[in-house]
Amino acid sequence: MQVSNPAEPAHEGPLTGTTQAATQSAQALAVFDQVVQAAHGLKTRAGQRRMAERVAETFASTALGKVEPGTDKGILLIEAGTGVGKSLAYSAPAIALALAGKSRVIISTATVALQEQLVNKDLPLLSQAMPQPFSFALAKGRGRYVCSYKLKQRLSADDSDSGLSADLFVTEGESDGAPTANANAKAQPLHYLEKAYFQWMTDLTERRWDGDRDSLETPPSSELWSPIAAEASSCTARHCPDFSSCAYFEQRRALATADVIVANHDLLLSTLSGNTLPDLGDCYLILDEAHHLPSVALNHFQESTNLSRLRWVEQLALRAQRAEAALDLVETPDFSALGAGLREHLSAAAQWAMGFFRPLGLTEEETELLPVGPLPADLAALVADIDTEAAAFIKGLQSVSQALRTRLKDEPQQTAFWSKHYVELGVLAPRLEAVSAWAQLMLSGSQPNAPSNPHASDAPDSAPVAAARASVARWFSFGKLSEGQTLYANITAHASPIQPAASLNAKLWPQTRAVLLTSATLTSLGSFDYFLRETGLHFQQKVASERVSSPFDFEAQGSFTAVLLGVDPKHAALYNQAMCQALMKDLEAVGQGALVLFTSRDQMRQAVSSLPAKLQTRVLVQNDYPRTTLLNRHRERVALGQPSIIFGMQSFGEGLDLPGALCEHLFITKLPFAPPNDPLSSARSDWLRAQGRDSFNEWVIPAVSLRLAQWVGRAIRSESDRAQVICYDPRLLTTGYGKRLMQGLPPFKKWQRDAQGQLKALTF
Ligand code: SF4
Repeated sequence: MQVSNPAEPAHEGPLTGTTQAATQSAQALAVFDQVVQAAHGLKTRAGQRRMAERVAETFASTALGKVEPGTDKGILLIEAGTGVGKSLAYSAPAIALALAGKSRVIISTATVALQEQLVNKDLPLLSQAMPQPFSFALAKGRGRYVCSYKLKQRLSADDSDSGLSADLFVTEGESDGAPTANANAKAQPLHYLEKAYFQWMTDLTERRWDGDRDSLETPPSSELWSPIAAEASSCTARHCPDFSSCAYFEQRRALATADVIVANHDLLLSTLSGNTLPDLGDCYLILDEAHHLPSVALNHFQESTNLSRLRWVEQLALRAQRAEAALDLVETPDFSALGAGLREHLSAAAQWAMGFFRPLGLTEEETELLPVGPLPADLAALVADIDTEAAAFIKGLQSVSQALRTRLKDEPQQTAFWSKHYVELGVLAPRLEAVSAWAQLMLSGSQPNAPSNPHASDAPDSAPVAAARASVARWFSFGKLSEGQTLYANITAHASPIQPAASLNAKLWPQTRAVLLTSATLTSLGSFDYFLRETGLHFQQKVASERVSSPFDFEAQGSFTAVLLGVDPKHAALYNQAMCQALMKDLEAVGQGALVLFTSRDQMRQAVSSLPAKLQTRVLVQNDYPRTTLLNRHRERVALGQPSIIFGMQSFGEGLDLPGALCEHLFITKLPFAPPNDPLSSARSDWLRAQGRDSFNEWVIPAVSLRLAQWVGRAIRSESDRAQVICYDPRLLTTGYGKRLMQGLPPFKKWQRDAQGQLKALTF
């Protein structure tokens, strides 16, 4: 089939906007059709084509770049179940339109697995099949790349030619009386660290390693990697002697020219105020695995600060003073006084937490949540002091850093000297920034009319938006630090927006023009409402959504059985005992591959200890082996026709692809409610209740529905798969919400099984 390039006008003469959009949409869809037809073995799937059609229509009718205020955006949600082939359905039309309009496509995923599939398989194939070739590149956070300058400095840390101390890379020590930084560092086998750094430096120099952490054979520990990561705060960029060969900047150069950039949700959010990715408003943005976006956003916008390990504050003040002296600056703050004040108030906040939550001393290591709403007055005063001091400290550091950059520019012969000062400050400055961000978030939750984010100008200033902005969860986690026989409290303070919607609405959506959000599971209880609320998109006008049909015949390919266990899961010990008994019996019947999903480590441990000898050799338990090793063993056993059963938790319930015989049985041991001790979940429930809202039906159950759908989605992975799903949680049958959860699942043949094993067909 001959397909015209969307860049070439198909009509003579002027076109109206609508006609032009329709033409471009049709041409983009024609590119998709051409790719499907050209690829031998690719069948036309109705759901896939419908998805491509919707993507083409939406993106073609959305103007990118600078537009008149009030111009409609194009936001499209598509739930495309497993087997639809969604990556081709969105890539082909989006890329065709981007090439035609000289814009770009950003595809953001939640998992490395999908990123790798796109970059190593899907996009190379598509590039060959498209009428116009395109380039693509993988974007990673700069912390994934090595800073060769810091690596060199680390290897020559005893070279004191500049008069700077060799403590540049020491992580820091800790609470008063706790081990010092140097003691900590020396506790490590130094030769091991040096050996690894030396090897990496050699491999980098001899081009055997590209500087990407992910391409190292063995993933390095964070202790090994953090001191040499290419973080922005310690990077002098074009003033760096290694700038031209820097691994991170090489990636940046590749991104600058790529037509398609593959990123991940966390990177996407972290670059909203940076320039790693192009302006989102100039691109077609595709969020695949979009069901993860709310949780990624919550994690991303969460702020924490340790209140016990504070030696870094003095180190940073000292380094600032050294740089100040070397620069001969006069108008800078008294860093020593600022550091002392900040440390004193952070320690006072730790003491406040101990006095408030642990007046009798530290017992267990756990978290304690502050009530949602205004902070207790004495804590609020302390946090306000911390906020003021951190802001003054940061301002002072900014002026020193600016002066250092000027010297780097003006005195190229002194680059090594000034760079060392710059890096010294840069490796610790992020901690100060974290303190500042935490203090601000803590205080913002205390102010019902907290000022809105300047980026939020196009978000409606409604009461729910204002309330959501002001909702912040604050909690402390208590642990222990030891030195010899002495124990010290290790206290970390946390603050997090309660709802991801507020942050996304303030920070992400205002920067976008044309967005597709897609996943195999975006609906919960049969509706997009929950996902729209979680992402803040219910505040946006004109969001379109559609579920495209799956090519699977669920009724013929599988069954879902809910077991009436006769024990209420609220009685955890009794329930687990009964569940394990039933599970062991069912596992006896497994002839090939099976997956058992647990809601907690304790529950999984109990099941492991209940395994009869015959089953023990058949089971592979998550965390007993690295994930890849475990999956390889599972595949090997199934290939040999042996039974193989994987025991896993939440992370195995999502993203695990076990087609065919690898997963003929899926066992769900309990409904996947959020863990009861999760402080953020508790804060959210409290906050919703305080507003007179029904937290259980509005939030808890829809979240379980989405998670359950993901878990159940492990069962059928291709049109030839056959699988049985068994869930032991009787609440599916005994509660009203249980029935709604079952109705939200794919249309399997559904059964009820009683304690005697009698089966009864269910009709919903
Ligand atoms: S340019 Fe920045 S990240 Fe790269 S080597 Fe130099 S200091 Fe490190």
